[in-house]
Amino acid sequence: MHKEVLYNIQSLKCSYDGTGELVHANGINIEQGNIYFVLGKSGVGKSTFIEALGLMNDTMHEQSNCSLNIDGRFHQISKLWQYPEMLISKIRAKYFSFLFQTPNLIDYYSAGENMIFPLLLEDVDIEDAKNIIADYVAEFDLPLSIYHKDVTHLSGGQRQRVAFIRALIGDYNILIADEPTGNLDAETGDKLFETLQNHIKTHNKTAIVVSHDTNLARKYADYFLTVKECRNTNIVELSYNPNNDHRAETDLINEIQTIY
Ligand code: ADP
Ligand code: MG
Repeated sequence: MHKEVLYNIQSLKCSYDGTGELVHANGINIEQGNIYFVLGKSGVGKSTFIEALGLMNDTMHEQSNCSLNIDGRFHQISKLWQYPEMLISKIRAKYFSFLFQTPNLIDYYSAGENMIFPLLLEDVDIEDAKNIIADYVAEFDLPLSIYHKDVTHLSGGQRQRVAFIRALIGDYNILIADEPTGNLDAETGDKLFETLQNHIKTHNKTAIVVSHDTNLARKYADYFLTVKECRNTNIVELSYNPNNDHRAETDLINEIQTIY
């Protein structure tokens, strides 16, 4: 199966002071349908890197050569920032979805209202939207009664499940997630990642996830993006997840198909 390239990172340099010294990535393609786990010590620039990819920060040095595939055309990310903020917001809303360590729900809305929001923005009919939510609620092992609950009355795990649903329910291409299960116990985190993986694979989406949890990474990543500390800058390296035999197998089949 041909995998569409979503990011062509020939040379990426990010920093907050304009020098491009914090984190570098070179010669990496990010492809549709994969789950990438971003690993590395605290402070190496994992969040900076994924936020730059998700157009959430403008830390990419202008000499970078890192482009994002928008409807089949590649756009230099550092150049996109020259467009008006409204256009950047539109691209963000249309192509990305975001998940963070804390759920960031709107407290004065019910759980259902929080989840329905992305669908109403896409003009989905309200009854259809409710049916879609019911499917997701079941998928994420929540009771349907959660719909009318005040989000401040939910447990931490339930709130994060609602945040997962809100992130996954609308139309998007790339999920950018920063420690999304960092506040949850190992079992709940694992369950959420299992559901997330299922969703990404079924819908042929792409996920770029920062996590400290090497168990989750080994279990759910197709690829690792490891940020390694180097003398002057930190370097992002792409590698296979060796535990994910299925990925290696698929790539081998692709390779054989290109040879013959
Ligand atoms: P990680 O996610 O790997 O823990 P971050 O990307 O959050 O690392 O941070 C990398 C470095 O950049 C840290 O030294 C941090 O202090 C610095 N940093 C993060 N955000 C900002 C910011 N908004 N302004 C200036 N420096 C920042
Ligand atoms: Mg971080």
